[in-house]
Amino acid sequence: MSNWYNLEAEAVVEQLRTNATTGLTQAEAQRRLVEVGPNELIDRGVKSPWHILLDQVRDLMVVILIISAIVSAFLGEYTDALVILLIVILNTLLGFSQEYRAEQAIAALKKLAVPNVRVLREGRAQEISARDLVPGDIVVLEAGNLVPADGRVLQSANLRAEEAALTGESHPVDKKTGVIRREHISLGDRANMVFMGTVITFGRAQAVVTETGMATELGNVAELIQTVEREPTPLQRRLDRLGKTLAWISVGIIAVVVLLGLLRGEDLRVLFLTGISMAVAAVPEGLPAVVTITLALGSQRMLRRQSLVRKLPAVETLGSVTVICSDKTGTLTENRMTVTVLDVANEELQVDTLLEDGRPILHAELDPRLPPPRRTLGLMVKAMTLCNDAVLAADPENSVQRIIGDPTEGALVIAAAQLGVQKGELEAKWQRVAEAPFTSERKRMTTVHRTVPLTEGGAAPWGDVPYVAFSKGAVDSLLEICDAIWVGDRVVSLSEEHMRARIVEANARKAQQGQRVLGVSYRPVEELPDGAEGVLALETGQIFLGVIGMLDPPRPEVKEAVRKAKNAGIRPVMITGDHPLTAHHIAHELGITDNAHFLTGPDLTHMSLSELEERVGDVNVYARVSPEHKLGIVQALQDKGHIVAMTGDGVNDAPALKKADIGVAMGITGTDVSKEAADMILLDDNFATIVAAIEEGRVIFDNIRKFIKYTLSSNTGELLVMLLAPFLGMPLPLLPLQILWINLVTDGLPGLALAVEPAERGIMRRSPFHPQESIFSRGMGRQIIWVGVLMGLVSLAVGYFYWWPDKPAEGVWQTMVFTTLTLSQMGNALAIRSNIDSIFTIGLRSNKAAIASVVLTFALQMMVIYVGFFQRIFRTVPLSLRDLLLALVLSTVVFWAVEIEKWWMRRQRA
Ligand code: ADP
Ligand code: MG
Repeated sequence: MSNWYNLEAEAVVEQLRTNATTGLTQAEAQRRLVEVGPNELIDRGVKSPWHILLDQVRDLMVVILIISAIVSAFLGEYTDALVILLIVILNTLLGFSQEYRAEQAIAALKKLAVPNVRVLREGRAQEISARDLVPGDIVVLEAGNLVPADGRVLQSANLRAEEAALTGESHPVDKKTGVIRREHISLGDRANMVFMGTVITFGRAQAVVTETGMATELGNVAELIQTVEREPTPLQRRLDRLGKTLAWISVGIIAVVVLLGLLRGEDLRVLFLTGISMAVAAVPEGLPAVVTITLALGSQRMLRRQSLVRKLPAVETLGSVTVICSDKTGTLTENRMTVTVLDVANEELQVDTLLEDGRPILHAELDPRLPPPRRTLGLMVKAMTLCNDAVLAADPENSVQRIIGDPTEGALVIAAAQLGVQKGELEAKWQRVAEAPFTSERKRMTTVHRTVPLTEGGAAPWGDVPYVAFSKGAVDSLLEICDAIWVGDRVVSLSEEHMRARIVEANARKAQQGQRVLGVSYRPVEELPDGAEGVLALETGQIFLGVIGMLDPPRPEVKEAVRKAKNAGIRPVMITGDHPLTAHHIAHELGITDNAHFLTGPDLTHMSLSELEERVGDVNVYARVSPEHKLGIVQALQDKGHIVAMTGDGVNDAPALKKADIGVAMGITGTDVSKEAADMILLDDNFATIVAAIEEGRVIFDNIRKFIKYTLSSNTGELLVMLLAPFLGMPLPLLPLQILWINLVTDGLPGLALAVEPAERGIMRRSPFHPQESIFSRGMGRQIIWVGVLMGLVSLAVGYFYWWPDKPAEGVWQTMVFTTLTLSQMGNALAIRSNIDSIFTIGLRSNKAAIASVVLTFALQMMVIYVGFFQRIFRTVPLSLRDLLLALVLSTVVFWAVEIEKWWMRRQRA
């Protein structure tokens, strides 16, 4: 059925056998879920195991090897052919299992990124995963939501949806509930329907789900949007380029080796296989794949620390972050607000003291025996409760009331309840008839209510009109729309007796103490306003009521996280919509700023980009900022060469999140739209989690570097052995199968173990790596060369002295080179586990995988030397105990050399 829009809302509800006020029952929803399946698009983004296997086999290196196996077979070298195939299979299995794990990790992350939706079931509002939605569910939609399925709008308060994902039209569409009589109209004109994958930009609504999953309109076009290319990360692109350069160098070296071999009259077949094996060995073309695997596994570790990575390259960029721009409320603070003072008619009333009085506030404004401030209080509490979208829900689990909605608003509802005003009861009488929702740009919101005739008699503050509007918002924002103040018994112009100045002063005083301050105001309304525009027109000529101060304590762990970030060369910056003094107080308390500089939204509006670039260096607090300013701040910081992480939770934060190098959304309070735009989601909304994620990012980047260091130094060693031997008059020191064995089997295992190396000491006490910084910086290039050269020279020297006296063509000397080289690499793998600390300090057990891989590799090597079957294949000879011990001792030369270099560096640093 696709012409739901032709039906009355009631008819749709009836056809879907549901109920608009109570929703489905849990049992029915369960039954439908089984029947129609989960609400998800069939994901072609995740590779199937077959696909992974195919990719492995299609790999250039594998193709070359398979071809050379076939050629070997034709040349009659059946053993070689078979062994090459076996090595390819072993290597493919290793690669497959790694990539499969990585894909599983990515798929798990994708599942977690599914948004939650608010639905009505069993007559109660509930939050469920969008995957569990079924046709007939009644969903609640509000600004910032992604529409989770196709649905027919049942109730709409100025709902507007941006449907570009489906229709290409980026201008938001107004959604209505009325039936549309015309048939066969385009999606864009079905104004009483909402569609999966589109975005609610404004307003609120209830809709009944008509189709889910692949049955939705988005499902119809899903083929088009799901063939997402997987973009390589910046590091992968650079490694790809590096791989190509190194490939050319090694092809040159191989050419020399083969040429010299030809001149010496080596067997052509052996030379052919030697060339192929060296090419396979020397070209580090597995590097980009290792990056994917390391990033994917790293993202799993990050998840354990509460950050959900949405885009894999983010893991890599995280380690480079130099500035973290963070929201204040909820990220740096707990977002557990408590109303502490109500400031009415210039008298401060402490909530604690009010509560001791025990007098209910409701309708207090009509009690002439009370002093004027107390009378205003009643009206003020009414305003702050009615102009409010939060609800208190009884939490059956632990008998406390839980806030559903914005914590700031929740705090107001709780305070009102403590003062004897229950939101539910009040709302039932004072029906809301129109509204203009809160936006971060206006920093206020307005609701219009039907007035209730006063049973007690007497004149109501709003006079004798059918409606009254209540506004609530930042005090400065309210003062823009107020020209009078209610002082308990009459309206006084704000121009009188410095009234305005006194409100501003009360506001500043509270802000200075770190309080979040809100104001409330009202205005009588004669006529029912028309839609949100009509309500916005009421945001003028209002009458100020009073000021509310609330405290939102800083999160205890943030101070330490800020210190850690600063040590790591990362500057935390606070960006908030709150008052500058509130912001400054909290920033100071948390150690984010130690100067008095701050910039406000209005300042930013008047600044050019170049002026802002001048200032971003020393301003750590931005207050009264709107989402659009965030974009400018990111731009200015980036122009100054910074790598910026930026948090955001609102609908309008999406552009800044996309622009930032790392866009960070809030898992708990964030809108779906901000989550979609983000690279990473903080599951606990906590600033400290960003710092933890950066730390993980650095560990992951470190480990990738270690892997590169390990692989390239090993390759250098091997190439050197092959290149230098002919110059010493020696035959080829390593046989083709030995080269393949070293590279595809013994070399691979310890390398992979480096991917799970834990954090290096001092990882958060060094400056970040700039993404443009050379991969070989900070001594790595130098180390690769000298370690590789040393490894090659030691192995070659061993071989030379075993070969020299009687110059055998094959025999012990080659097995000695082979073994010394393999074991040297083991030593190298252990030594480079840490860039600076001795392996004896970090301990062998800190990376069990490394130990296991070294032991396993050693065992494999012994097998190749001592088991008759393998001896024949790899042309090895069993070494005597003396020879084996010698190889073992000499192979530790590399290990000790690296350890000594680290010791030297530690001494230099001290
Ligand atoms: P932040 O999240 O950085 O504290 P917001 O943009 O959410 O900033 O809020 C900016 C200002 O708007 C707040 O200081 C407060 O005065 C006001 N405000 C916030 N939430 C509401 C709300 N629900 N209703 C009315 N005013 C609000
Ligand atoms: Mg906020």
